[in-house]
Amino acid sequence: MTRVRRVERITPRMARITFAAGGLAGLRSNGTDQHVALYFYEPGVELPRPFTAEAARALLPVARPRLRRYTIRHHRPGLGEVDMDFVLHGADQLASGWAERAAPGDEAIWFGPSPGWTPGPDAEWAVLLGDETALPAIGAILEQLPPGLPVSALIEVPDPSEEQQLTTWADARITWLHRGRRPAGQLLHERSTALRPPPGRGRIWGAAERDVVRGIRRHFVEGLGTARSDTHLTPYWTRGETQDSEV
Ligand SMILES: Cc1cc2nc3c(=O)[nH]c(=O)nc-3n(C[C@H](O)[C@H](O)[C@H](O)COP(=O)(O)OP(=O)(O)OC[C@H]3O[C@@H](n4cnc5c(N)ncnc54)[C@H](O)[C@@H]3O)c2cc1C
Repeated sequence: MTRVRRVERITPRMARITFAAGGLAGLRSNGTDQHVALYFYEPGVELPRPFTAEAARALLPVARPRLRRYTIRHHRPGLGEVDMDFVLHGADQLASGWAERAAPGDEAIWFGPSPGWTPGPDAEWAVLLGDETALPAIGAILEQLPPGLPVSALIEVPDPSEEQQLTTWADARITWLHRGRRPAGQLLHERSTALRPPPGRGRIWGAAERDVVRGIRRHFVEGLGTARSDTHLTPYWTRGETQDSEV
């Protein structure tokens, strides 16, 4: 169980929420794109305290939470704080709406983090592809890539106001794609599938809407013959569907 400590609108459609709890000082950090599952229970469900993973499991026959996945953007163990960045895509949507209304003191339940991605010591280059939901992960990955590693990043956002300052020691070329009125992911798909990876062995990381990710995977794996194991392509959301199938 954590509490919201701060809420900041880092761009017009991205809220940075800082969570705090004593236990976060000891949170095992898993690096780069590590993510957690936020648990949303129906209002009125009585939660046992302290609310542990075991307690959540024991509660399953009575109350099933709805799960949503979010990336740890920053972890400050010394302060017992974690930041997550939420795309505000709709006030009536579960996680996005919660983030839009979140205020200091609100309770938040999440478990994790999952293991983070690493390009591996033999990577000669990396390609990072994503939409705004992947921006927290791409930001965290860039901060942790080895100095000098050649990196090409394509990031699709609605417009220039959603760009963020990203820092890295890698030799990164970051290209911002502004979708404007195009459907989400169309531009990312076009530009990703026009990419020809540099020579040598590298790694391709990507995350966006499910069908966009499928198209990108087809391009690299079936089209260019990139080894599937050299790609890490994850659907982060699905057009017209919620993430409710999990639990
Ligand atoms: C491993 C992982 C890490 C993730 N990390 C982050 C993160 O750090 N920050 C972040 O903002 N998101 C992140 N996401 C994506 C986020 O979990 C989804 O966008 C999720 O669907 C949001 O939940 P919701 O309750 O707001 O909407 P849902 O109830 O899941 O969906 C409701 C409707 O909204 C649509 N929708 C969902 N997301 C978007 C979107 N971004 N833009 C437009 N329409 C959308 C759906 O198609 C559906 O029609 C991550 C996903 C995964 C799998």
